[in-house]
Amino acid sequence: MAATSDPAVLPMLVTDVEVVSVERLSPTFVRVGLGGPALADFGVDGPRYDQRIKLVFPDPASERGHMRTYTLRDVRGSGEQTTLVVDMVLHLEGDLVGPGSTWASTAAVGDRIGVLAPRRGFPFGGIEFAPPPGAELLLVGDETAVPAICTVVEQLPADARGTAFLEVPVAADVQDVRHPAGVDVVWLAREGEEVGAGLHDAVVAHLGVPGAILEVAPDEVDPDLWETPSYSSSGEDVGSDGVGVVGTYAWIAGESRMVTGLRRHLVNQLGFDRSQVAFMGYWRRGVAMRS
Ligand SMILES: Cc1cc2nc3c(=O)[nH]c(=O)nc-3n(C[C@H](O)[C@H](O)[C@H](O)COP(=O)(O)OP(=O)(O)OC[C@H]3O[C@@H](n4cnc5c(N)ncnc54)[C@H](O)[C@@H]3O)c2cc1C
Repeated sequence: MAATSDPAVLPMLVTDVEVVSVERLSPTFVRVGLGGPALADFGVDGPRYDQRIKLVFPDPASERGHMRTYTLRDVRGSGEQTTLVVDMVLHLEGDLVGPGSTWASTAAVGDRIGVLAPRRGFPFGGIEFAPPPGAELLLVGDETAVPAICTVVEQLPADARGTAFLEVPVAADVQDVRHPAGVDVVWLAREGEEVGAGLHDAVVAHLGVPGAILEVAPDEVDPDLWETPSYSSSGEDVGSDGVGVVGTYAWIAGESRMVTGLRRHLVNQLGFDRSQVAFMGYWRRGVAMRS
């Protein structure tokens, strides 16, 4: 279909889908398959990498429901049999529940939710992973970014080089993931320790930042933290000054305090240029996403 041939066609898929499979991967992750005839028009040009989509969870008390952001972990089948696969995190630590986590905890085949996803032939956006050719990669994320990092490393070219650090709540959440020989994949299980602290320490040790600790006060955390080469949630100039640690591209996503702490070291101490980074707050402890 040509991108602009029919003005009645929305530039993205906005449709309701049915749960066609549910698999409890581990204590924290539920893998959900979503299907429906409208997904025949789903499509992304090139690798999906960290392609995000929106899910809309029904709320019996309101017509609108609750919209949350998730990563497309896989796409199976084709035509009207297309299935979108999403790995959803259950919030097991504390009593922090939200519509997404709550829905995932009881999801069953036949349940219905809404989805906003890329339509074949139309620009949708939502892929932030964009390293300069030949860059050394640094991928960092907690459990909410595990689906994105696993998809990225599976889709990297065979000659890619770098390290991926993934923090999960417990050791049983570690997954097998295919990755190029030149990319090390390091799993960290926090086992009750503070979210992001182990990840922070592992990454600063890897980068060789002296004496760097995760010290970010709650009022210093931007819950909407999003810094990429083309967008800055703080309103910074998105132009690049072209300086920095030549050759390393950093993609960091997860709890906003962890991302804020690592951003400081990479930008202030190591001089990473914004053309070499994507810093993304995927969630904020104690703060519900806006519906
Ligand atoms: C681009 C992008 C991609 C994402 N991809 C995924 C994905 O593939 N899978 C996935 O599970 N999540 C993913 N997330 C994160 C997800 O959108 C948030 O965790 C979201 O807050 C979940 O909504 P909720 O309704 O469960 O909780 P909310 O209603 O938003 O929050 C309710 C409470 O739960 C807490 N909370 C939120 N998330 C967590 C968490 N992970 N652990 C513990 N407490 C939490 C909040 O701090 C709050 O106190 C992604 C986010 C972005 C921006």
